[in-house]
Formats: sequence, C-alpha cells, structure tokens
Amino acid sequence: MSVVTRFPPSPTGFMHIGNARTALFNWLFAKNKKGKMLLRIEDTDRARHSEEAVQAIIDGLNWIDLSWDGDIVSQHARGARHVEVANELLAKGQAYKCYCSQEELEEMRKTAQEEGRATYYNRKWRDKDESEAPEGVDPVIRIKAPLSGETTIDDQVQGTITLNNEQLDDFILLRSDGTPTYMLAVVVDDHDMGVTHVLRGDDHMSNAFRQSTIIDGMGWDRPVYAHLPMILGQDGAKLSKRHGAVSLEDFKEMGYVPDAVFNYLLRLGWSHGDDEIISREQAIEWFGLEAIGKSPAKFDYDKLEKLNAHYIKEMEANHFVKALADYNTTFGAQHDDFEATVSPLASELQNRATTLKQALHETAFLFNEGAPDEDAQKMLSETPVEIIDGLIKALSGITDFTSENIQNACKELSKELVDGKMGKIGMPLRAALTGTLQSPSVFLCAETLGQQACLERLNSTKNI
Ligand code: GLU
Repeated sequence: MSVVTRFPPSPTGFMHIGNARTALFNWLFAKNKKGKMLLRIEDTDRARHSEEAVQAIIDGLNWIDLSWDGDIVSQHARGARHVEVANELLAKGQAYKCYCSQEELEEMRKTAQEEGRATYYNRKWRDKDESEAPEGVDPVIRIKAPLSGETTIDDQVQGTITLNNEQLDDFILLRSDGTPTYMLAVVVDDHDMGVTHVLRGDDHMSNAFRQSTIIDGMGWDRPVYAHLPMILGQDGAKLSKRHGAVSLEDFKEMGYVPDAVFNYLLRLGWSHGDDEIISREQAIEWFGLEAIGKSPAKFDYDKLEKLNAHYIKEMEANHFVKALADYNTTFGAQHDDFEATVSPLASELQNRATTLKQALHETAFLFNEGAPDEDAQKMLSETPVEIIDGLIKALSGITDFTSENIQNACKELSKELVDGKMGKIGMPLRAALTGTLQSPSVFLCAETLGQQACLERLNSTKNI
C-alpha cells in the first residue's frame, strides 16, 4: 500500500509553528515512504474565510520548502459530497434526524452539567419515527454512535488507546441548514483522497474516536493515526504569542533562515540519537513514527537561534547574499546594487550573524544610513583630533586600498601616536566609518566602503 498523508490546515491567517511541524512530519513521512502528501484547506468557516489566509499557508509551506502532491483541495468545495455521505449514513440506519429545539438542547446541557457528564445529548430522536417530527423544523443529522462495547485505536505515537463506547456521543453530521460539520467533512475527505496515515496534533485524539464511528458506519478502512504531542513554551503552557514568535511569518521577519527552522522543527518531538544538525536528505532517510516522542516538546528560542547561526555560516556566500538581499527587499529599505555592495563582507557577516536581521543591520553603514549611534558619537567626541587627522593622512596615502594595506597603515599610525595600541586607532575608525562600535573587521569595512567614502566620513566626524 502506497502511503498518502495529508496536511489540512484551517486558514487562520498565519502559519503557527505547531501547524508547520505537523506539515513537516507529514511531508517527511510521505517522502520516507515514497508516498504522497496532499494539501487540503479546511475552509468551511465561510464567515471568516479569506484568500489571504489561504495564501499564508501556501507561502509558509513554500518558505520552508515543503511541497504537496496534486491540486490543493478545498473542503468547502466538497460540500455536496459530505451531504451525500450523511444521507448514505441515514439510509444505512447509521445516522438519524434530530428535531430537538434549542431550548431542549439547553435543558439537556444543564442536566448533563449537573450530573457531571461530558456528553449531553440524550439521544431523544435516535429511535423515534419520522412521523413524530414536528412541523416546520429543519432537523440536524446525527451519527448513531455505538452504545456499548469499546473502540480501540492503535496510535503510532500515543500507543494503544481504548475508549468505552458509552463515552461517545451522537454528534451532528449535518447542521439544520444542511452544512456539514468538521467531523463529517474530515472523514469523507480523508477517505475520498485515499489518506492512509493521519499525523496531527494530539488535541485531535478524542476526535479520532468520534470520527471512527463515521468510518465504521460507512464500512471504510480506518487510517493509521499518529497524534503528535503539543508544543509548549518553556513555562509548560501551550505555545502562544505571549511566549514570543509563534508563526513562520514571525520567524521569517526576525531573520531566521528556512533550513534552520526546518531542522529545528524536525527535532521538536522527533529524534535521531543525539544528532542536532540534520540535513533534509538525512531527515527524509531517517524519519519514522517510532522516534516521535510521546511527551510534549518545549520550544527553545535559544536553540533555534544557535541553529540559525549555524545555517547562516554554512551557506554558500552567494546564497547568503541573495538571501540577505531578499530579506532586505521584504523588510528593509530599497538599495540599488545591494548584492554587489554587500558581497565583499559576506563571509564576515556570516560568521558574526545569528539572524539575517542582524546581518542586515551590520550592512547599513554601506548605504550611509542613519547618524552614528550614541556609543559611536561618544567615542568620536572623546577622540583627539590628531588621531582623526592622522587617519585621514594615513588613509589618503594608500595607493592600493585593500584591507591589508589599511591595517598596516593603521598599525604604523598607532606606533606613531598611541604606543602601538591598535584599539585607540581602530575603534575611532570603526565609529567614523560604520557609526557603531560593533561591526565586521573595520579594515574590511573600510575597503568595502572605498577610499573616498572613508575620507569623507572621517572628515565629517570633525563636526561631532
Ligand atoms: N483543520 C484542522 C486543524 O487545523 C486539522 C484537522 C485534522 O488534522 O484532522 O486543526
């Protein structure tokens, strides 16, 4: 049997990191088994539906480079098929029409609450005859869940779980306006799409039992289930915005690179010995459900940052510059010749950066952005004028303006003026050229800026 997984997000407007991990695991499992991963948009909530929200899912998947097979399936578009299955269940005697009024249901809910029962509907219409139906009431259609016995699910992550069927309820399949519920739509779509493996968050574990009643009612095969533990914040609560960034969009904006996010999400609940750095190819080769942890994974922002630094460092220089240019186009200012201007500094930036945002910040001086920051201003105002004059003279005298020659000239100057203490020359130079006290090698910065710009910047510091 060829493996078919699915990723069925509800378009909420952004791609939560938990959803991205679900997508990743489905993709990896399918790839490992040489199967397929399908993409279904669960867009039945029309009141809140928007095309941008669907696009956010597509953009998120594209960003971490997870592809799906075939066309994107719209759950909403399959409404007629959902209705058809509900009617088939009715015809088979596996479902029934319920004519209860809101008031009656409210009463049942109250009683259930008083009696401490999780399910409230008292199955009033389960065995009643249609002839007793009240006039002018549009019924809902409910599943006939088994009243006795047990349902067992052999979950590939959670283990074998058995539920006493008394705990199941006759939940709604079709609302009184004829629209299908999530519970019905998911089962019908998974079946029709040939899904063999359902990998999803363990908040859907109890749904698996309820969904089994529909599957069994239709006489279909149940898929293999693997319910993934939640992702928590460091404090043990479900990961949410108050912990920090939670969506792929957030991480992209913060300057994370897709390979780092991919690697981090992979290790969030799945392991391969002590391996921390895992390539896409290795991930596909090694991925399996048996190595998914049972306990919730805690999101560790520091770990992600370390991985990001690693992947930034490992990038081919031209890929890095391209990634930085794309980042700049999306989140920074527009610059002509960005790639060519930044290229000479690429490996310095790569070695220093934990994020693209930080790397971009360190290129700002090349585009003459902003005044020197407070620390740089302080440094420059405390620098004796003969040091600045000495630097202007030393740098003007260089014929071949390379970082090596600039460094040598500064060394000579430091011997002349400050007992060979290079910091006393290098730091003011850095402050003058970059407007900060932290930058890549100041000599390389100087070379990248070019002689004329360096001299102009040194000259202008005299006004500080
Ligand atoms: N649309 C559901 C969600 O985003 C997923 C349903 C499922 O995986 O069965 O949580």
